[in-house]
This record gives sequence, structure tokens and C-alpha cells, in this order.
Amino acid sequence: WEKAALSIVVVGASGDLAKKKIFPSLFALYYENMLPQNFKVYGYARSKMNDEEFRDLIAGSLTCRLNDAGDCGKKMDEFLERCFYQAGQYASEDDFAALDKRMADGESEQSCADRMFYLSIPPNIFTTVAACASKAASSKCGWTRMIVEKPFGKDSESFQELSAALYEHLREDQIYRIDHYLGKELIENLTVLRFANLVFEPLWSRQYIRNVQVIFSENFGTEGRGGYFDQYGIVRDVIQNHLLQILALFAMEQPASLDAEDIRNEKVKVLKSMGQVRLEDMVLGQYRSRTTRGTTLPGYLDDDTVPPNSITPTFAACSVFINNARWDGVPFLLKAGKALANKAAEIRVQFRHVPGNLYRNKLGLDLDKATNELVIRVQPNEGIYLKVNNKVPGLGLRIDTTRLDLTYKSKYQATLPDAYERLILDCINGDRRLFIRNDELEVAWEKFTPVLKEIEDRGVQPELYPYGSRGPVGAHYLAAKHGVRWGDLAADDE
Ligand code: NAP
Repeated sequence: WEKAALSIVVVGASGDLAKKKIFPSLFALYYENMLPQNFKVYGYARSKMNDEEFRDLIAGSLTCRLNDAGDCGKKMDEFLERCFYQAGQYASEDDFAALDKRMADGESEQSCADRMFYLSIPPNIFTTVAACASKAASSKCGWTRMIVEKPFGKDSESFQELSAALYEHLREDQIYRIDHYLGKELIENLTVLRFANLVFEPLWSRQYIRNVQVIFSENFGTEGRGGYFDQYGIVRDVIQNHLLQILALFAMEQPASLDAEDIRNEKVKVLKSMGQVRLEDMVLGQYRSRTTRGTTLPGYLDDDTVPPNSITPTFAACSVFINNARWDGVPFLLKAGKALANKAAEIRVQFRHVPGNLYRNKLGLDLDKATNELVIRVQPNEGIYLKVNNKVPGLGLRIDTTRLDLTYKSKYQATLPDAYERLILDCINGDRRLFIRNDELEVAWEKFTPVLKEIEDRGVQPELYPYGSRGPVGAHYLAAKHGVRWGDLAADDE
């Protein structure tokens, strides 16, 4: 790396995300020699700490790669020596000016230094920090970029306000809106799978695809951290951003190139072609407590940080259609929930039946189950498999459905990088492909704001489902309305 010096500022450095994801990712990048030679990391927050205390705080969350050659401990010490802490208020230009001075001292041997700010703070102070940091601590001659975390507003109106406020201080090319799902290995691979293989792209349309499912499920509840979640609910927290982003990448037309703007143009286009999300195409749920074998798993309302009688959904499923030539009439089913039976994020593509199937009456072939299905398992146990019908070896003719299977951990030995590693590195390199452009969010909010408003105005009651179950029964009716059965990891493994 013959690059300029780089100062990385983590604003909100005392917080959960910084400790859990940002510092471990920065260390992993350092370990892999991916950071510029002359980099320094500055933690910024209100909590009082000196550099040593800060280093102790983050040291506990740094981890070594599984295939470490033995120098991880030494590298951790080297990394920590480059970490500094500056206490300050979020609304104080003076405090950011003090940070600026400290960074300038660290950068002094270089003629020019770049600065990356990671805003890991609650949304109500995003714009204050963007204003103070850009005014008092921007790079004088290199670039200044800011990574901002969701939530990007609560609806179209609040998003527009946030966006306008950020634009007062930053240009679009300086704002990196992160959606960590886009940094996941399998999501990045989605476009490779489609556009670098002859066999998939011709099938990628209404002619061959019966339905597409994008599923996110967690096998735990809010567990005492429901305060933030309750203000947003699962539709805003997962569906309107993560799942919709995956849908856009899945369904977009081939971009003119791999350039960030070309890809994001296609994503905006396909989102614009999507119909409005309607209440009659949506199922809302909330998990309730359940007692199994003498143990009680707490319901959402048992979380002390959740207001009593909250009707915030912890589960939602909806069907949407993309009204363009490629996808007309194909239901896209999105489903997300907390406290369900499995932890999984996956895309399922169910193909149409084989017309005039010669084997329709053969033993073992249940035509309804035996359609081809492509499963892209984003997490856990990353992999891709295609369900195919196959003759069971032996005399006679018995057919079963089996898998062509690419399970990453058996094929690739390397540890997969965390999504945050990839995205932080992309920001440093100025690659905006996996970050969300303002107009993408504008369309995403346009599609969801009316239905969210209707849910709130009407006070729609979520359907209760037991902790650890498959979610509300209504989700199965919703799928059935479109002639679809939800795919299921457990059923695939049977
Ligand atoms: P957090 O721990 O609640 O807050 C980060 C830091 O901000 C705190 O350490 C605190 O630092 C300061 N802070 C907290 N509440 C504040 C308030 N009301 N006013 C001013 N400062 C306050 O947040 P986080 O979980 O790290 O998340 C950071 C951002 O990432 C948020 O926008 C969140 O929505 C987003 N995010 C988080 C996760 C996650 O897994 N945690 C996942 C996705 C997105 P000081 O008191 O020391 O100043």
C-alpha cells in the first residue's frame, strides 16, 4: 500500500456495535494487511476513558482467524498501539476540533491524509455528528467519508428529512449507507451466480420461476433489548431494508458494468417496478411465551424494555409483485421473524413443474414437492443447493428429490470474512457498490410507508405465535393464496 495516511474515527466507540463488529473487523483487516500502512483508529464518544482503558475495552472483542499462523497476539498488540480515544460531546464543534488536532498530529508525517468516520450512534444524533465532524474534523486535502448505520428514517417523510439534513454537510459520494446484509458472502455471490453462469440467467424469469422467497429468521427474541426494536418493528428493521435489498439484487436486469452506479441504477429500476405493499398481502405476528419441559421462554411483552400492550410486530410476511416483463405474475414472498424455530437467512427459488413430465406416475415422485428449487443459504452454514429429481440407484425405477450441493465449509476451507470487514474495506477503497444510494431508499420507503401508516392508524393486532415455533399460521395462508408452500430448511434436511 503506497497510499496516504488514513485516520479512522468510530463515533459511538463505547457502544455495542463498535465493540461487537467494528473494532473486530478493523483488526481483521489489519491482520490481513488490508489497511494502508499509515492508519490510526480513533474512538470518539462521551464516556470518559483514556487510551489504555479504551484499548482494554476493545482488546476483549478482537479474535484471531481459525487458520492463524501464530502471530495473532503480536498483531493484536500492534493494532492496539494504533488505537486512541478522544472523549467529546456529539454536538460540540470544539470537541470535534480537538479530535481534528489529535488526528492531525498523528498524520503529520504525511502530506495528505484521508479520513473515514463510522457513525455508530443512535439515529437522533446522526445529523448533529455529521455536521460537527464535517465542519471541524474533515480531511484538509484527502477524502472524507462517513459510514452511516440504519435506521434511515421511519417512513418516507422522516427519511427525506434525514437525507436533506445530511446533504447540508456531505455530498452523496461521501455518504456510505451500510446494509450489512449486502456485505455477506452469499449476497455478493448472487450476481456472480446469475451473470457468470450460462445455466441460471435464461431461467431467471416468469417463464421458469414459480415464486421467490426471501426468508430471515432468528431463533431468539429481543431478550432485554426490545426498547429500540419496539419503535421500529420487524417490517422496518428487516423487511424494508435487508430483504428488499436482496430482492432488488436478485431481480434486477443485468447492469451495464460492475460499476457501483450501474448496479444501483438497476436496483432502483426494479424497485420502482414493484407494486405497493398492501395490508391484505401481509401477515403480522408477535411471539408469546411458551413453556416446554419445565422451562418458560419469555414472550415479547415479558421483555421489560418493551411497553406493556405493545402491538409491534416481531414477525411479518408479505407478498409483492414486480410488474415488469421479466417478473409479471411471479409472487415474491418476504418473511422475517424473531423467536422462531430456526436461525436462517436464505433465498429460495421455486421453479415451475416440468411440462408433460414423463415420470409423473412413477413411484416416489410427488409432483408438487418435486419441482426444482434453488436455495441460497446466506447464513448460517453458507451454501447453495439445487434440488433435482434423481433416479435412486438400483434395479427398478424409483425417483427421489436430492441436492446438488455446494456447502461452503466443505468446499472452501478459508474462514469467510465478516460482512463488516468487506464493507469497511470497500469504503476505504471508495467502492460504493454494496452501499445504498439515496434514491434506492426513497423508493423502498415509498413502497412501504402507506402500509406501515395503515397498520399504525388501524392499530392492527399481530397474530400471536409461540416462542420457538414456525410463526403465525396466517403466513401459511398467505403463501397458499399464491399457490406457494414456504420452503423450509428442516424439511429439506429430512
Ligand atoms: P448504542 O450502544 O445504543 O449506542 C452507541 C453509543 O452512542 C453509546 O455507547 C453511547 O456512547 C452513545 N449513545 C447512546 N444513546 C445515546 C443518546 N440517547 N444520546 C447520545 N448518545 C447516545 O448503539 P449500538 O447498538 O452500538 O448501535 C449503533 C448504531 O448502529 C445505531 O444506529 C443502531 O441502530 C445501528 N445498528 C446496531 C446494530 C447492533 O447490532 N448493535 C445492528 C445494526 C445497526 P456515550 O454515552 O459514551 O457517548
